[in-house]
Amino acid sequence: MIAPAPVSSGIDRAMGGNVTIDPRERATPVDDPAIIEARSRRTGRLLDAKRLIGSFDYASAIRLRGVLKNAASRGRPRLVCPMCGVTLFLASSMRKNFYLRHRSEDGSCPAVTHSGLTEAEMRAMKYRGAQESDAHLRTKELLVRSLAADPGFSDVRVEATWRASEGLIGLRRPDVSARCGDLRAAFEVQLSTTFLDVVLGRKRFYRDEGAALVWILPSFDPSYRRMTTDDILFGNNSNILVVDEATVAASIAASQLIVRAWHRQPRIEGEHIVDDWVARLVAWSDLLIDVDRQTVCAFDFAAAESAAISELAQLREQQKAAKEAMWRAAAVAAEQELRTEIFEWALAEDRVDDLVGYYRRWPELNYDLAAYCANLLGTPSDVRVPIRMVKVIETAKAGKPVGFGYDTLVEVAHHLFHQRPELLMGFGHLLRAYGHHHLLAEQDSSGKWAGKVSANREAMRRDPHFRLADDEQRLFDFLSEDLCRKPAAGEGGK
Ligand SMILES: [Zn+2]
Repeated sequence: MIAPAPVSSGIDRAMGGNVTIDPRERATPVDDPAIIEARSRRTGRLLDAKRLIGSFDYASAIRLRGVLKNAASRGRPRLVCPMCGVTLFLASSMRKNFYLRHRSEDGSCPAVTHSGLTEAEMRAMKYRGAQESDAHLRTKELLVRSLAADPGFSDVRVEATWRASEGLIGLRRPDVSARCGDLRAAFEVQLSTTFLDVVLGRKRFYRDEGAALVWILPSFDPSYRRMTTDDILFGNNSNILVVDEATVAASIAASQLIVRAWHRQPRIEGEHIVDDWVARLVAWSDLLIDVDRQTVCAFDFAAAESAAISELAQLREQQKAAKEAMWRAAAVAAEQELRTEIFEWALAEDRVDDLVGYYRRWPELNYDLAAYCANLLGTPSDVRVPIRMVKVIETAKAGKPVGFGYDTLVEVAHHLFHQRPELLMGFGHLLRAYGHHHLLAEQDSSGKWAGKVSANREAMRRDPHFRLADDEQRLFDFLSEDLCRKPAAGEGGK
């Protein structure tokens, strides 16, 4: 006995109108679908969406939903949008009317957005979709011919089922599979409809199988890349492998599989790393195959990039060091410039007309000295302090009095002893530093200076009269570049 079809419950209707369809009833398309055509992946033909849906009964249409989903998740979509190439699924409205929708409705498909394309533009887009479908088939053929040319490959099979090894789950149906020595390889011709989750799923599968997954593209243009191409590119250490007519000819000529490899090549340009795109023919035996990472590359971009990064870091370090050296040199030059200015100012004293202006200059110079902690503290009223220091330094350097009204160094020494005992020790060190100390003894024919020194040796060492105030000592150090000090042990005082 056949049970009567249940009548829709009142509760369902109250909840928002559930419609229950008899399983044998013909599936009904929505009246005004956004996607009016689908392309069959298998035949490449265009199918009218309404007629396709109407060819199923309701139960079969529901099953078709699952079939389309499963096929897509295995990376073998049955139906794709003829406009944008994206995988199509079957969806149903609240009233259980069916329509096709994109796997991801991101609003980029002109079939959905009705983006004001002309009839001719729409036709051109559909034509490209058909071309791509053809390109997939053709590339598969070219790959098989290339593999056949290489005696190193055996077991070359097209769309053969690849069952997971014992203990592992799953199966795949790669476009082409082959064996090369100990290595099993699965070749997939990349479609613009291959989504990242499919790419990653396949990678995992073949990695677990200990096999190499090799993505092959019909062509590659680095300046025009779809997101799906980038998923392959950047997942494969920035390498892309292409098989085309030219590579087949090369494979046949060389009796080995040859592909065209495109890869990024890093290069340092100024402060940055930039990439060049390089394309060349590469033999299979020269490819770097990493089963763990599931990469098949002509060029190890990652290694080259990290080398470039460390080289750039080294360059930056060198530039920094050079800059610091420059700053140091500039600082030394600035210091020397201030010193020269003070010397010129001090030695010009006897030649100036405008004495008021001349004396006013000192506070300015003293202010600049603060940067070197060599400024005189308190009210800098006594301009004679720096002037005297400069004259003492110049005298020691010249080996004859400069700015003192005497003829000999020993006369200057006697003068300092009585008038400026605080400068005497510095004068002595300066004379030694400049190699003129012997002149004191030579000019001391009476021996008076030698007598004065030996009689006051202890006082000269201890008496505060023979010492400069701290700030004056720092100024003297600065002006004489430390030559007014007793050389530290080891520097070898002259
Ligand atoms: Zn579309």
